[in-house]
Amino acid sequence: MLAYESLRESLNRLQMTAAENALDNLLESARTNELSIVDAMDKLLRIETEARQERRVMVNSRFAGLPYRRTLEDFEFSAQPSIDRELIERLGTLRFIDEGTNVIFLGPPGVGKTHLAVALLLKALEAGNRVFFISMSTLIRKHSDNIRKGMPSRMLTNLIKPAVLALDEIGYTPLDSDAATLLFDVIDIRYRKRKPIILTSNKSWGQWGEIIPDRVMATAILDRLLHYSVTVNIAGDSYRLRQHREFGLSYINRSEKEERNGESVAFKPAKL
Ligand code: ADP
Ligand code: MG
Repeated sequence: MLAYESLRESLNRLQMTAAENALDNLLESARTNELSIVDAMDKLLRIETEARQERRVMVNSRFAGLPYRRTLEDFEFSAQPSIDRELIERLGTLRFIDEGTNVIFLGPPGVGKTHLAVALLLKALEAGNRVFFISMSTLIRKHSDNIRKGMPSRMLTNLIKPAVLALDEIGYTPLDSDAATLLFDVIDIRYRKRKPIILTSNKSWGQWGEIIPDRVMATAILDRLLHYSVTVNIAGDSYRLRQHREFGLSYINRSEKEERNGESVAFKPAKL
């Protein structure tokens, strides 16, 4: 068998599709001395590695459960001065994954907690990590369905396997004892494996007693969660409401100016 055919067959058997597709062009470049043999081999393997990385990101993103796509670059830090931008950018380097540091976003609705959680997950995803996002209300609902069907640990793998898990909106729904037990298991196992959790909540730590009525359980959960963690407290106004208000204000200013200039106001704001 010719070396060329054998090479092709090996690439095929190793399922190196991208490399196989690039082979002829690279060999041609090597033949015409545009590329040395080492360069051609390096390029061939790089093409395959990059294609695999892309595929991995695609597969992982299918399981990630992200509610929307929002990036750190989309985040307007000027709109939320209570946030330490440097800290968020440091988190964006993903060192928190290696360190096993939990990231906790606390604050009222609309201040960007979910946005930042999603943005960090996207960064982790694009770096090739498995990630999983779930809101607490969905988690509670699915878990009680599973218990009813006699499969109480069905969700556990999804919650434990990913390199980063985001639990969104803890605090809107109080946890019954089944949900609190699941939360404890997830936090305990991930704590022992040093796998980080990103958590968002509208409740401050002091209010966790309202979320998890069993005090011993609440303390055990908080202990593990906070041991390796950074908390980002976000104060301030809802971004959406702010946008509405700003739009309203600039509109009114414009109408006043136009009236002052004696011009007719072409349109009136719609009544909301
Ligand atoms: P919550 O704190 O309730 O989780 P979200 O993160 O869902 O709030 O934010 C509500 C909406 O406002 C989202 O569409 C989000 O992308 C946007 N948003 C919030 N804060 C900012 C910000 N500082 N810059 C850009 N968009 C923001
Ligand atoms: Mg949210």
